[in-house]
Amino acid sequence: KTFQDLNLPKHLLDAIFTMGFDRPSAIQEEALPRILADPPRNVIGQAQSGSGKTAAFTLGMLYRIDVDAPASTQALCVTPTRELAIQIFEKAVKPMAANMAGLKVQLAVAGTHFEKGQKCDAHIIIGTPGKVVDWMKRRLFNAKTIKVFVLDEADSMIEEGGHRANSLLIKKNLHKKCQSLFFSATFPPEVVAFAGKMVDNPDRILI
Ligand code: AMP
Repeated sequence: KTFQDLNLPKHLLDAIFTMGFDRPSAIQEEALPRILADPPRNVIGQAQSGSGKTAAFTLGMLYRIDVDAPASTQALCVTPTRELAIQIFEKAVKPMAANMAGLKVQLAVAGTHFEKGQKCDAHIIIGTPGKVVDWMKRRLFNAKTIKVFVLDEADSMIEEGGHRANSLLIKKNLHKKCQSLFFSATFPPEVVAFAGKMVDNPDRILI
């Protein structure tokens, strides 16, 4: 399989070319047809770090974004740590979106701050659970316009005693048709079972 086989729009094929990727990795080959499906499929994907899962969900977010839609957040990616959020932003979203003129991406992590009355109009928000919930409660962004919801390191985002409460709160505020993409290196059975209850009819991918 090649990236050309995946029916990607030109701006995303260009992004892949810019990244220097020759062909889809195993997780990308399995996950991308579902991530890019219409209607969108919910995906619970298990793959080691280094497998290319970040590029898979980043392509999923970029695929759904309409840069011209006015002031609306369309993709949300939540990860347990500030460092990982920054890494997703710097190493995947920023370079892969380099030719999407007008695209706005906002980090929601410790240290990012919005003044009273200011709104976040970024197309993509990448953040940590506490900060994202805080912004949601303050209505700094509109959760209902989000089309893609990504949890990276989903095991610690969903496990009991982890960030489960915040993940549920975020999920509850999204539109029920919002696509969920949960990725993790490990998915203990309890977490898979819980994730399966959080999202509608997910496709499970194990690499
Ligand atoms: P990740 O598993 O998301 O941490 O990605 C690991 C590394 O693989 C990153 O440096 C990516 O840029 C790179 N990568 C992702 N997809 C591909 C691909 N299809 N071909 C070659 N390298 C890739």
